[in-house]
Amino acid sequence: MFRIGIGHDIHRLIAGRPLILGGVLIESDRGADGHSDADALAHALADAILGALCEGDLGVHFPDNDVQWKDTDSLQLLARVCWLARERGYHLVNADATVMLERPKLREYIVQMRETLAKTLHVDTGCVSVKAKTGEGLDAVGRGEAVTAHAVVLLEQS
Ligand SMILES: [Zn+2]
Repeated sequence: MFRIGIGHDIHRLIAGRPLILGGVLIESDRGADGHSDADALAHALADAILGALCEGDLGVHFPDNDVQWKDTDSLQLLARVCWLARERGYHLVNADATVMLERPKLREYIVQMRETLAKTLHVDTGCVSVKAKTGEGLDAVGRGEAVTAHAVVLLEQS
């Protein structure tokens, strides 16, 4: 039995915040604003897993008005969601994600992001794909105002 899930996330980019994507600190003059560490890639993946499980979204499980999750490491949230999937009797077959960020270019960080996410999800690096695109100078991403991430996951009953 297979289940598929989709996730999407967006965070505003502001000065004075770190930019963390897939658990990896990106060298940037601006970072993502948010209650947690605002890791859009980790959030999109976690939402995709929750979607596959029909378990609502991240906001349901980790409310942003709860001080417990302030500035929290989003890999921890992803690990908890992964644990929930195992609890429901599922394991991750593969995940595919796209991050949209105008700058800096993410190419040199991709392998590290895939390795970090795969470790958190307890799968081989070959099961986690991360792609990077820019906004081509269009929309909020293109103007450098936001970072977005899309993710799809496939779960299989263990
Ligand atoms: Zn988020």
